[in-house]
Amino acid sequence: ADYWKSQPRKFCQYCKCWIADNKPSIEFHERGKNHKQNVTAKIDEIKKKSIDKAKKEEKMSKEFAAMEEAALKAYEEDMKRLQGESESEEAAPIPADLPTEPKTKFKERTITSLGDESSAGTTFKKRKTENGKSRSLRQRGKDD
Ligand SMILES: [Zn+2]
Repeated sequence: ADYWKSQPRKFCQYCKCWIADNKPSIEFHERGKNHKQNVTAKIDEIKKKSIDKAKKEEKMSKEFAAMEEAALKAYEEDMKRLQGESESEEAAPIPADLPTEPKTKFKERTITSLGDESSAGTTFKKRKTENGKSRSLRQRGKDD
């Protein structure tokens, strides 16, 4: 037992075992079928891991590319829309830096301030109601 204890030993990571740390012993172990199989298995494991990692990274990069593409499309559509808006704005002498919201508010305000238009609208509403009533009465009479 004392003889083995004094012997320097080397740990084989592939085989998870100790071998005598001298050249002939190491060479003998490394030539062994069991060690070679373990080395191949280890390499395959490392390969598989790196392939899985590469696949994951590829998938992620694909997803990222898709996201980027979608964002780019949205941006292009926005640019088209903005270009279309600016084109229509060219006809009207409205400054491009004015947002669309105040424009609508201004229009609404113009309509309400005009007395003629609001009274005309009321007349139209009344007329519409009368027509609806007479129509429904006629329909009821036919049904009975
Ligand atoms: Zn080994």
